[in-house]
Amino acid sequence: MRIITFLLDTLFPPTCASCKKEGAFLCEDCVRAFKKRKIRPRPSFVRLPKEFAYMDGVIYALDYAKNPGIQAAIQQFKYKFTRELAAYFADLVSEKLGQLSMAKNGKIILIPVPLHPKRLNYRGFNQAEVIGRAVGERMGDRVEIIPLLARVRHTAQQAKLTKKERHANLENAFILNKKCVHKFEPGKSIYFIVDDVCTTGATLENCAKVLKENGFKKVYGLVVARAFK
Ligand SMILES: [Zn+2]
Repeated sequence: MRIITFLLDTLFPPTCASCKKEGAFLCEDCVRAFKKRKIRPRPSFVRLPKEFAYMDGVIYALDYAKNPGIQAAIQQFKYKFTRELAAYFADLVSEKLGQLSMAKNGKIILIPVPLHPKRLNYRGFNQAEVIGRAVGERMGDRVEIIPLLARVRHTAQQAKLTKKERHANLENAFILNKKCVHKFEPGKSIYFIVDDVCTTGATLENCAKVLKENGFKKVYGLVVARAFK
């Protein structure tokens, strides 16, 4: 496997998703240029607009608007299927999680936003799950990835919709994954719904709704980048 990777890298060297330089999927210069916000002792959540009734906060590694590099990388990850970029995203997210005082004790449960099987088939991977697993690899036993949610409705692609349409589009799109229910222990763990980007927050909110309606007390979002103001 390693030899194949080596050969492929030699024949088709990876190029940086952001600046297109050869050598890595996201080059050191671009990673270094990311503008990170230091987390304060009280975690710096996105202040959520009023329409968010279920989600308790969103943790994000980078601000989309200030980091065009991450924007390019996420687009490439999702639409050109450069799965390798997940490693870079997981570095950013793990760093952020490590700074969170509320996540210091107790288990961190990552719940990937599920994809509808049709889209999963098309893309070949669920970007949220791939990021979640890579975060788990970095943070060890403290983190567990549990697919607590399932997607029951094939919805129009969020990226093409307005903010209002996004909320309506996702209504009742998610349900609790019955196969996993026995695993959840509210109170002992901290729950994060994982996605690549939080744009209007509609996806995370609709996922949080399902969990809250099923007895979860606190539910947070965890994303690589946030796009909403
Ligand atoms: Zn670069």
